[in-house]
Amino acid sequence: MMARQVLTRDAGQDRDGANAAPIQRPISLANEVYETIISQLMALKIAPGARITVDNLSRELGVSQTPIREALGRLEGEGLVHKTHLIGFSAAPQISARQFADLYEMRLLLEPNATRQAVSRLTDETLAVLIEAAGVMGRRAKSGDERARYSQFARQDAVFHDLIVQTAGNELIRDTLAHQHVHFHIFRLMFHSRVTEEALEEHEAIVSAFEARDADAAERAMRSHIERSRDRLLPVFE
Ligand SMILES: [Zn+2]
Repeated sequence: MMARQVLTRDAGQDRDGANAAPIQRPISLANEVYETIISQLMALKIAPGARITVDNLSRELGVSQTPIREALGRLEGEGLVHKTHLIGFSAAPQISARQFADLYEMRLLLEPNATRQAVSRLTDETLAVLIEAAGVMGRRAKSGDERARYSQFARQDAVFHDLIVQTAGNELIRDTLAHQHVHFHIFRLMFHSRVTEEALEEHEAIVSAFEARDADAAERAMRSHIERSRDRLLPVFE
């Protein structure tokens, strides 16, 4: 999901450069509003299940209701926001223990194997992009509060995992994982620095295996990362 958004934005900038089309403005405003709301959801500034009022957001972000409604409509389509007749919008509830178990079962079936495939299709360019994506996460932002950084890490994690699956080349698997919004849901479960610190080390192991073009090690490192991620979050349901 994330990588595609980046690509879309790049394409938009190219068009801007060529035509300076004014129609890009409202699109990018809606996009900015979307990014802001999704950050607030991930950082739990808007709690799971909490009501979201268009009026409040409009005042808080200093924009009209139109881009807010547009962004909320898009989030609704992605299942991250719910809309109830006569009540309005609310943040998607936290995933259940069962949904969590199912999600990790699916990840373990798909991602380690995709990581193995990715090694065989790895080019110098994709390797550089992967190293860069892992590096961005490790860089400590000097400004911004902890929650904002956490939300940024969550989104960068999504980009990293999507890049690997994209490199593997099976678009069906990539779409299946993207539609689950795995990182959105798991990062809302627990707000804790351990979640990010440990994940960084595990990502490093994955990147090292890619650098060595070692398919076995890459598959193993991804399986271990997903299992450990599951075990870090499991206490939420106890
Ligand atoms: Zn990860």
